[in-house]
Amino acid sequence: LAATEPTLTLARVTEQHRETYQVISATGPVAAELGGKFRHATKVATDLPTVGDWVLTTVSPDDQLAVIQQVLPRQSVLERAAVGKTGAGQLIAANVDTIFICMSLNANFNGHRLERYLTMAWDSGAVPVVVLTKADLCADVAEKLAALADVTLGVDVITCSATTGAGVADLRAYVTGNQTVSFIGSSGVGKSTLINSLLGRETLVTREIRTDDKGRHTTTARELLRLPSGGVVIDTPGMRELQVQGGDLTKAFADITALVGQCKFRNCTHQTEPGCAVQAAIAAGDLNAERLASYRKLELEMSYSDMSARERE
Ligand code: GDP
Ligand code: ZN
Repeated sequence: LAATEPTLTLARVTEQHRETYQVISATGPVAAELGGKFRHATKVATDLPTVGDWVLTTVSPDDQLAVIQQVLPRQSVLERAAVGKTGAGQLIAANVDTIFICMSLNANFNGHRLERYLTMAWDSGAVPVVVLTKADLCADVAEKLAALADVTLGVDVITCSATTGAGVADLRAYVTGNQTVSFIGSSGVGKSTLINSLLGRETLVTREIRTDDKGRHTTTARELLRLPSGGVVIDTPGMRELQVQGGDLTKAFADITALVGQCKFRNCTHQTEPGCAVQAAIAAGDLNAERLASYRKLELEMSYSDMSARERE
């Protein structure tokens, strides 16, 4: 008898623990482990499956576990930059379509922070949407929106309040069908509250008690949540701790990158060079000088972190 090819099943990773995974396939959720290929691989964190990944699995001989054999190509990746000398970054989530960048309209409001989040979000491959929260605590929403007009150019902006429910339907419109969304932003801006309103419940009840393989009771959080209305929310612990770092300036500063190519000198630093299209736009009142200042600051930070990454190698 010819050996039969093992049947591969498509599944999506819903939880990642130290060595075990939870995946969901057409037949429902199942515990999973890594196939040998991953265990003997170079163990680069970014090669391992992460929450949101689409994977191909086989069934283990005892039928209890799914075995992850392959990670399908990722559309987007949220990654925590390498810290210290450990090398590779750590994956936080994969295949997120929309990143809701949350900022509260009262205490947390800061245009520069938003610029940072936007560069990071664009870099991930997902599309950012700016979510201004706690509108009920802000008396001058229109002014705040106007103050962000340069920063949010070309990006959808939603103003909402979980308390009054205003704007939550606008948010919901992004979380339908096969869409996957994630929430980032500082602690306390109202991310959990918004996720709960999307899920239609009062308090986050994702924490559940499990018994791990050593018989201990552990509290785990389901990290990939399917909405009753369709759509998926990924809310991993790493998402909560995500620090703004690095990113892609080209889209977050599309107003400036469009000009840079028009400068007379290719290596123009947009300071005092003749024929600088960026300075010309500022002089003409078409570009806010503050935007250039932010751009230069982030550009410097990124070249510095690239440099230190190279030094580590
Ligand atoms: P997270 O850390 O970003 O997940 O923020 P939380 O969802 O835990 O919210 C932090 C605090 O802000 C909680 O006390 C919420 O009740 C409160 N909060 C959240 N959304 C709103 C809102 O729209 N309006 C007001 N006034 N408070 C809110
Ligand atoms: Zn220039």
